[in-house]
Amino acid sequence: MNKEYLHQFEDNQIERRLLSLENIPKVEGILEGKIKKLILFEKKYLSGDVDIGDYLSVDKVIDMAPSIYRKVDNYLGVRDITNPILSFENVNILDLGLLFLPKVLPKVLVKKPTNDLYYPALKRIVLIPCRRKYESVGALVHEYTHHIQNEIFPKPFFRKNGIFKEGHATGTTRQILERYSKEKDSEIFSDTIAYDVICLRRSYLWMCKKLGQKPNEELLKSKSPLKYIENVHYNKLEKPSIHEIGNTAFLIYEQLYGKDIYRQIIKGEF
Ligand SMILES: [Zn+2]
Repeated sequence: MNKEYLHQFEDNQIERRLLSLENIPKVEGILEGKIKKLILFEKKYLSGDVDIGDYLSVDKVIDMAPSIYRKVDNYLGVRDITNPILSFENVNILDLGLLFLPKVLPKVLVKKPTNDLYYPALKRIVLIPCRRKYESVGALVHEYTHHIQNEIFPKPFFRKNGIFKEGHATGTTRQILERYSKEKDSEIFSDTIAYDVICLRRSYLWMCKKLGQKPNEELLKSKSPLKYIENVHYNKLEKPSIHEIGNTAFLIYEQLYGKDIYRQIIKGEF
């Protein structure tokens, strides 16, 4: 994978492409669709029609992990990736700054955030124990995708470019959970919608400010029956996180180039 190919995925390049006027209506369209989906899903959830599954013991997660890794391998078209070390730590959820995330979401950002290079250097996935199955599946897919990125991309590229890494890992997780959901006939596994809405809203506000556009306030109003996303603080002066910008950029790429982008990128074919 040469430097010229990777240049397009550098964080400043993704940001530069995202901050374009033609992306405003794209983000608005995706956001509108996601809000509609979120309302439908949450109504179903509130009426008790969504099975949220059991809590998994650490042993069960360890048993399940290799089969999840192979699903990611197949999806991304990679082979011979050595399994990462899986460990469990009790992380104070307050430290993660994730209180705003709905309880029904796979909390995909479970890597202990004390040091970004913690995982890559040690090829290790750190999970929070005692989570529901759908949360553990989402976390394993997301963190294992980082592991694959670490194996595939040159070190200098992987050490930087958090927007790319998070956008690619979050998008891969969304796609695999959607498939898993169909396979298991359980809608809960595909529930990354609330997180997508948060990312899109925060990026949208930021893009509007940068590009001198007036945001459509309707798209920023919470219409979530569960009311979790109402607690998210939307401040147009604040730059969204690398996760939020990355997820938004990849949602646009998905719309433009299709859902195969995650594999194509890893194969050097994007
Ligand atoms: Zn991540």
